[in-house]
Amino acid sequence: MASPVPPVSSSPSTSPSASAAVSSNATADTAFRSALDVVRAVEPRVADAIGAEIEDQRASLKLIASENYASPAVLLAMGNWLSDKYAEGTVGRRFYAGCRNVDTVESLAAEHARALFGAQHAYVQPHSGIDANLVAFWAVLSQRVESPALRRAEARHVNDLSEQEWAELRAELGNQRMLGMSLDTGGHLTHGFRPNISGKMFEQRSYGTDPATGLIDYDALRATAREFRPLILVAGYSAYPRLVNFRLMREIADEVGATLMVDMAHFAGLVAGKVLTGDFDPVPHAQIVTTTTHKSLRGPRGGMVLCDDALAEHVDRGCPMVLGGPLPHVMAAKAVAFAEARRPEFQDYARRVVDNAQALAEGLLRRGATLVTGGTDNHLVLADVSGYGLTGRQAEAALLDSGIVTNRNAVPQDPNGAWYTSGVRIGTPALTTRGLGTAEMDEVAELIDTVLRGTTARVSGGGEPSKAQYELDPALCEAIARRGADLLAGFPLYPGIHLG
Ligand SMILES: *Cc1c(COP(=O)(O)O)cnc(C)c1O
Repeated sequence: MASPVPPVSSSPSTSPSASAAVSSNATADTAFRSALDVVRAVEPRVADAIGAEIEDQRASLKLIASENYASPAVLLAMGNWLSDKYAEGTVGRRFYAGCRNVDTVESLAAEHARALFGAQHAYVQPHSGIDANLVAFWAVLSQRVESPALRRAEARHVNDLSEQEWAELRAELGNQRMLGMSLDTGGHLTHGFRPNISGKMFEQRSYGTDPATGLIDYDALRATAREFRPLILVAGYSAYPRLVNFRLMREIADEVGATLMVDMAHFAGLVAGKVLTGDFDPVPHAQIVTTTTHKSLRGPRGGMVLCDDALAEHVDRGCPMVLGGPLPHVMAAKAVAFAEARRPEFQDYARRVVDNAQALAEGLLRRGATLVTGGTDNHLVLADVSGYGLTGRQAEAALLDSGIVTNRNAVPQDPNGAWYTSGVRIGTPALTTRGLGTAEMDEVAELIDTVLRGTTARVSGGGEPSKAQYELDPALCEAIARRGADLLAGFPLYPGIHLG
């Protein structure tokens, strides 16, 4: 169902080495140095902060599941005068003159995206994952609520409705239902939770996981869907370490008349890299798929919506529906990143992300850690650290003290709530980009386990263990940080770039 797209010619200078994405040559070095010199002449503190950031990234064992390292080509495609263009509208139909180069990069990004994911339509303007979700929600509302109302009123445009008809339509738009995965089992705030606008727009209900297995309980989900009859069934997650059966999800959505929307923000790289295929590839099953472009997909910070032909015209109304002008420089970088992801090396990368997560999981389990669902099928591991006598907050902080960057995360039915939590989420996309493999993941598991074993919750005068304070021997911290640095020394990040 993809439109024909020319194959991406791989440049002869590209080597399929493990860290090809972040290996950098003299040309990239010169480009970044010159760029920083230009910035330094205006505001040296900004140039210094940019220079310091590459050093911080080089020095840390980055296990944040939502982060990655973009290639020099992606980074450089963002820093230029495409940024100066206003280009509201769509390719060839802009509300501003002089958009031919923006048209070029936007259509390239969309073509690459369609080919990469086998999607009928790609909308590459959203500035972030949250924006992509807002566009998707309103596209479905436009298709399923607004368009029928316009037809009933025999109006072509909302401006043609009477005040009365408009008031009724607004009430109807604001009275729709969404069923999404619960936050504490790995769902995302934008899937209908009250602190986010999605929870204010929709009446929401959640599905979750079976407490015994930690796996999505599809029978319970089906029962809830039958009873609740949502307009939108949202699948996708930020902290679920297993596969989701999107074929089954679509079956459930069809049965209750819901539109299936999949938010693949976290695992888009695994879909692009053909690790998640068949029932586990959302694109052939969902009517609409949203994503970020900067997580496992390794592109610039941004968002995207993929959809079937029936939704395309609604999705393309992202501007003016919820967006203003697109970010043409970021769309250029998306085109570059998608071109990279179409190369065979990216499939190898995606495979290694999962191999590494599984090796990390095995390493942790072998040392006695508890993992939600007992392991992983994707790029992340969710460790329940209560067995170490710690909250997620204490574990996250102790690991950071030792040079290991993770983030705390609730586990299902978390007794410590969403602030302190009982879990730590650990992801492999970034270190895999850097070139680390399964042998190194065992060492990473060793470092994590050693830190957590060496950390104890501080006990107050009243005998109560703190949820935030902890004791950790500075000598142990230092030893672990040194081992982490030794490990990373074998996998230089952007090795050709020397800004100092
Ligand atoms: C990260 C994430 C988002 C939000 O992406 P931003 O670019 O930070 O707005 C949305 N949905 C899911 C599932 C995510 O993991």
